Amino acid sequence: MSYDFRCRDAGAPSCGAHITAESEPELREKLAEHLRKHDVETPNETLLDHLVASAEQR
Ligand SMILES: [Zn+2]
Repeated sequence: MSYDFRCRDAGAPSCGAHITAESEPELREKLAEHLRKHDVETPNETLLDHLVASAEQR
């Protein structure tokens, strides 16, 4: 299963980030890295769960 994540859809309308991943672990890793741009150094599991849930699965 692959994931298609847009920051805009997750509640950051001014962020144009588009992240794709082939697995959930990969998506979590990329999200954690991207969140540094939102001044989140160490995202907690609750936030990551929320973002993973808002990603589109294909
Ligand atoms: Zn973003």
